[in-house]
Amino acid sequence: MKSDIEIAQEIELKPIQEIAKKVHLSEDALELYGKYKAKIDTKQLTNDADLGKLVLVTAINPTPAGEGKSTISIGLADGLNQINKNAVIALREPSLGPVMGVKGGATGGGYAQVLPMEDINLHFTGDMHAITTANNALSALIDNHIHQGNQLNIDPRRLIWKRVVDLNDRALRQVVVGLGGPLQGVPREDGFDITVASEIMAVLCLATDIHNLKERLSHILIGYTYQREPVTVGDLKVEGALALLLKDAIKPNLVQTIEGTPAIVHGGPFANIAHGCNSVIATKTALILGDYVVTEAGFGADLGAEKFLDIKVPNLGKAPDAVVIVATIRALKMHGGVAKSELATENVEAVVKGFANLQRHIQNLQQYGLPVVVAINEFVTDTEAEFLQLEALCQEEDVTIRRASVWANGGLGGKALAEAVVEAIETKEANYHRLYDDSLSIEEKVQTIVSKIYGGKAVSFGAKAQTQLKRFAQHGWDKLPVCMAKTQYSFSDNPALLGAPVDFTVTIREFVPKLGAGFIVALTGDVMTMPGLPKQPAALNMDIDENGRATGLF
Ligand code: ADP
Repeated sequence: MKSDIEIAQEIELKPIQEIAKKVHLSEDALELYGKYKAKIDTKQLTNDADLGKLVLVTAINPTPAGEGKSTISIGLADGLNQINKNAVIALREPSLGPVMGVKGGATGGGYAQVLPMEDINLHFTGDMHAITTANNALSALIDNHIHQGNQLNIDPRRLIWKRVVDLNDRALRQVVVGLGGPLQGVPREDGFDITVASEIMAVLCLATDIHNLKERLSHILIGYTYQREPVTVGDLKVEGALALLLKDAIKPNLVQTIEGTPAIVHGGPFANIAHGCNSVIATKTALILGDYVVTEAGFGADLGAEKFLDIKVPNLGKAPDAVVIVATIRALKMHGGVAKSELATENVEAVVKGFANLQRHIQNLQQYGLPVVVAINEFVTDTEAEFLQLEALCQEEDVTIRRASVWANGGLGGKALAEAVVEAIETKEANYHRLYDDSLSIEEKVQTIVSKIYGGKAVSFGAKAQTQLKRFAQHGWDKLPVCMAKTQYSFSDNPALLGAPVDFTVTIREFVPKLGAGFIVALTGDVMTMPGLPKQPAALNMDIDENGRATGLF
């Protein structure tokens, strides 16, 4: 069997101008990055009255068995084009943390990939670099401000702004900077997050244009004064410099799928420790260019889809017309208690048990008033009896279910799913409403998410979180939406609780105000904003030969 990268390297790519032409995007609107990548100058787009239909792809809680959300998103867009719908895909940019770590890239798999996969998975058009640099420029400016007399009276012990790097690097989680005497600045504790958890990433992804970007940047809270008054980027007067560093990163990137479907890949916050969706600007661009837009929110629907619907949609100004939940029979069996080594054996009973996880996600998305279609990403080990059982269970929930073999067959394997999605959009009314009202308190918002989406019993707020709740209300920050930071593996904050756990309590240890992004992050359990590498990182398999051919990128 060929690996993803072997399949990708066999494809003859089309010049990016040809891909742009398919969606009537003029060459003037393209800023070329080589032959197969371009940034889109969105100022050249005028037709925003007539937006396409939006399809949100999400999934059950991930398991080590793998679900293939990106693979299905790409295959669905190719499938829509196979049935002559003008489809565009809008995805997130991969982070080097998972690429070098355990999960691998984020460009799909098999015959459903976006290309050139090596470029997209590595440095692409430099957006991650720009975001990292803007973030760390702010850190340097803060340390310099303190060193040069600290006019704003910033308390170095109460800075919340951290440095970032787009790698999994646990050694940088907590550091001390400014050591070495008066010439090296003022010593203080600092730490690194991964770039995709940076507020700059969230700001870039939620901004509607460069003015809005600048405004959001100026609102970013960096810490507090000795009198515990908030200090923002606006107080430092550096929002202009940060926006300038992001002048190209804010433009969406155009690439292509194996079948030549236009793909806009832009922005990449993680869904567990950030809001998990590609940029508003990219999705909007795709909606202007395509009649159907397939977009993906990260991890399970409890994280990515909830944040897409409660945080991104109000900024995008358009809700999905349908939602696709991706599941695999293998993963459902794992949620039903089967060990990874036993997944190749037929086990209808485990499918029934594991269905509880899918069922809760279906019901959750129906709460938002959206038509739901279930996509089963086919694996060679799936059996007919297991699928028929699953089909019967989905019928009881009144949702359409389709198998998709896009990994093996590309767009042809996604045709049935594409037809089901079009039918759902044409026959079922989408009546989107948010889960909660922003006027609720932060406690109430967290409690609503935990009870209505996670299925939990209660929320316990740790001592630090309780103090913060009072302070945030005094500042008027309690009217912002909440961005949960939680393990992706379970509905609860305990990664070991698979399936559809009940009667659990979610613990909030701390909140982080992200005033530029416009949400309050709630840190649950022991979730970390800087991941570590595993014992056998993917990097061990990577190489490049004398012809510049990459290997080991999955
Ligand atoms: P997700 O978006 O859910 O994280 P991806 O789409 O990135 O998952 O897929 C993860 C990996 O699983 C990729 O390497 C891909 O090739 C592989 N994969 C996806 N679908 C299948 C399938 N049906 N059969 C075999 N491997 C698959």
